[in-house]
Amino acid sequence: MTKKVLIVGGGLAGTIVANGLCRQLGEELRGNEVSITMLGATETHMYQPGLLYVPFGRIREKELFRDQRKILDRRVTFHVDPAKNIDVDKQDVATESGKSFGYAISSSPPARASGPTACRAWRRARTGSTISTAHARCATRSRNSRAARS
Ligand SMILES: Cc1cc2nc3c(=O)[nH]c(=O)nc-3n(C[C@H](O)[C@H](O)[C@H](O)COP(=O)(O)OP(=O)(O)OC[C@H]3O[C@@H](n4cnc5c(N)ncnc54)[C@H](O)[C@@H]3O)c2cc1C
Repeated sequence: MTKKVLIVGGGLAGTIVANGLCRQLGEELRGNEVSITMLGATETHMYQPGLLYVPFGRIREKELFRDQRKILDRRVTFHVDPAKNIDVDKQDVATESGKSFGYAISSSPPARASGPTACRAWRRARTGSTISTAHARCATRSRNSRAARS
C-alpha cells in the first residue's frame, strides 16, 4: 500500500520539505511506495524576506510571487484547498472544499523532537505524516550539517 505524506501549507517550510523528500525518496516514489501531496491556501508562493525591500523600491511586489506548482518538484501533487481540521486520531485532514485527505501515520518524530536525530529517525521511518515548519527546520539543519561535513 502506498504510504501517504501530506504537507499542509505551501510556504517556505512546506516547499523545502516537499522538494527535499522528493530528492530523498526517489526510489520509493518511482515504486509507488510513497506519495507526496501538498495542501495550499493559494496558487502562489510569496518570498516573505523580499517584503523588506518593497518600501525602498529595491524590488517590486509582484516579483515576490511565484506559481507554487512551478517551484515544487513535479512528483508532488498540489491542491489549492486549505486545511480546515486535522484529526490526528482518524489520521485525516478535512479541507475547506469538503474533501478529506488521509495520511499514513498520525505522528512524526520531528513533531516530538527536534534536530538531526529526529530528522534521521523520520527518514528511517519512510512513512507519512502531516508536516509542520518544524520539519523544514529539521531538514535545513540536516542539509547544513551534511554540507559542513563535506
Ligand atoms: C519581512 C520578512 C523578512 C524575513 N526575512 C527573513 C530572513 O532574512 N531570513 C530568514 O530565514 N527568514 C526570514 N523571514 C522569515 C521567513 O520568511 C519565515 O520564517 C518563513 O516564511 C516561514 O515559513 P513557513 O513555511 O513556516 O510559513 P509561511 O512561509 O508563512 O507558509 C505558510 C503557508 O501555509 C499556507 N496556509 C495557511 N493556512 C493554511 C491552511 N489552512 N491550509 C493550507 N495551507 C495554509 C499559507 O498560504 C502559506 O503558504 C522573514 C519574514 C518576513 C515577513
